Amino acid sequence: MNITIIGTGYVGLVSGICFAEFGFNITCVDKEIKKIQKLQDGKIPIYEPGLEVILKRNIDANRITFTTELESAVRSADIVFIAVGTPSRRGDGHADLSFVFSVAKEIAKAINGYTLVVTKSTVPVGTGNQVKQIIEKANYKAEFDIASNPEFLREGSAVEDFMRPDRVVVGVETERAKKMMAALYRPLFLLETPIVYTSLESAELIKYASNAFLAVKISYINQMADLCEKVGANIDDIAKGMGLDKRIGNKFLHTGPGYGGSCFPKDTLALVKTANEYKSEVSIVEQTIKYNDLRKKHMVKKIQSSVDSLSNKNIAILGLSFKPETDDMRESPSIDIINGLLNLNANIFAYDPEAMNEAKKIFSDKINYLQNTQECISGKDILVVLTEWNEFRALSPPEISKLMKGNIVIDLRNIFDSKSMFDAKLEYIPLGKK
Ligand code: NAD
Repeated sequence: MNITIIGTGYVGLVSGICFAEFGFNITCVDKEIKKIQKLQDGKIPIYEPGLEVILKRNIDANRITFTTELESAVRSADIVFIAVGTPSRRGDGHADLSFVFSVAKEIAKAINGYTLVVTKSTVPVGTGNQVKQIIEKANYKAEFDIASNPEFLREGSAVEDFMRPDRVVVGVETERAKKMMAALYRPLFLLETPIVYTSLESAELIKYASNAFLAVKISYINQMADLCEKVGANIDDIAKGMGLDKRIGNKFLHTGPGYGGSCFPKDTLALVKTANEYKSEVSIVEQTIKYNDLRKKHMVKKIQSSVDSLSNKNIAILGLSFKPETDDMRESPSIDIINGLLNLNANIFAYDPEAMNEAKKIFSDKINYLQNTQECISGKDILVVLTEWNEFRALSPPEISKLMKGNIVIDLRNIFDSKSMFDAKLEYIPLGKK
C-alpha cells in the first residue's frame, strides 16, 4: 500500500517513519523546503530519541521519500493522511483549521482513483465531514472515503508510543475504509493492540476527551500539592497512595509548574469552544484551564517570596522545554515563568540539553544561554528547576552547594531529595512538601 502523509512535523514525521518501518511505501510531504531537504539527507529537524536511526534504515530500504510536491504524492497514494498543525485560533481559542482545509482543497484537485483521506491532526468534532464536503465541492468526480485516526503519541517517547500504543482509534464510515485501516495497522493488531473502530465524530471526540482528562488530572494533583503545603502533608506520598489504586493509576500524578506543550493548552481550549457551541457543560475543563494559567503566576510568586527582592538577582534556570526528551517549547511553562521573573528585574541564566535553539527564538537576548548544567548554576543566587531532564537528577546536593553563590534551590519538578539538600546546607523549596 502507498501511503502519503501531509505535514512532516512531530506527528506526521513519526507516523511516516514508523509506517515505513511496518513495511509500507511512504511519501512525506511538507511545504517547508528546508525541512524536506534535511529529511532527504537522513537528518531529522526535531529532537526525538530513536527516530533518526529508523529514518536512515528506511531511506536505505527505499521505503520512505520526502517531497514538497503534494499533487504527485496524492496521486500515487492509496491512503492520504492529513497531519498538519491545528493551533489555537488567535482571539477565540477555537482550533484553527485553515491548514487542514487548505490541504483538503489541494488533495481534492489531485485525487485520481479511490483514495482514503484520513485526518491524523487533532480536529474538532465535525471536521471530517467538513473535509469531505470540501473535497466533494472541489472535485465532484473524486472517489474517496474519509477516516479519522487521531494520534496519541507523546513527544520524547514518540517512537515507542507509535509502535506500541495503548490503543488505536479509527473513525470510519464504510467497510472499504475500515478494511484499509485494518491492513495498515495489522502489525499492531498482531501485538494485540486494541483497535477501536467508531464513527468519525466519536474518534474526533475521543482525542479531545483524553487530552482534557489528562490536563484535569495534572491540575488536580497540582491543587493537592498546594493543599499539602498548607497542611504539612507530602505530595509525593499522596500521589503514591492515590496511584496504587488501579482505578486512579499512577501516571500524570506528578506535581509541577503546570501543563504546557503543543497539545493540552490548545486542545482544552478547543474542547470548551465546541461544548459552548453546543451549549454543553464542561466546567471542569474550564476551571482546569483557568487554574493552569494561574499556576504559572503562582510559581513566579513562589520564587519571588524566597527572597526580599528579585531585582538584579542572578537566577539559574535548568530546563526550558515543556517536558524532558523534547526540544519543543510550544506553550512551555518556562515561557510565562521566565517572563514573570524578567518583569521583576531578575537576571536569567538558562540551560536546556536540547531546547536552546527553540528557546532563543522566544527569549532572544532577554536571557543568557549557558553551555551546560555546571556553568549555568555556577555563581548564581537562586537555582530553579523547570524541566526534569535526567542529567539534572544526577547533580549532587554538595556539588550544587559548592557551585552556587547563594543557597536557594526551587525545585518545580521535585527531582531532589529534601534531606540531602538540607544536609548540603541548601534552602530547598520543592512543591507540595518540605
Ligand atoms: P507541527 O507544527 O510540528 O507540524 C505540522 C507540519 O505541517 C509543519 O511541518 C508544516 O510545515 C506542515 N504543513 C502545514 N501546512 C501544510 C501544507 N499545506 N502542506 C504541507 N505541509 C504543511 O505539528 P505537530 O506537533 O506534528 O501536530 C500536528 C497535529 O497532530 C496537530 O493537530 C496536533 O494537535 C496533533 N498531535 C500532536 C502531538 C504532538 O505531540 N506534537 C500529539 C498528538 C497529536
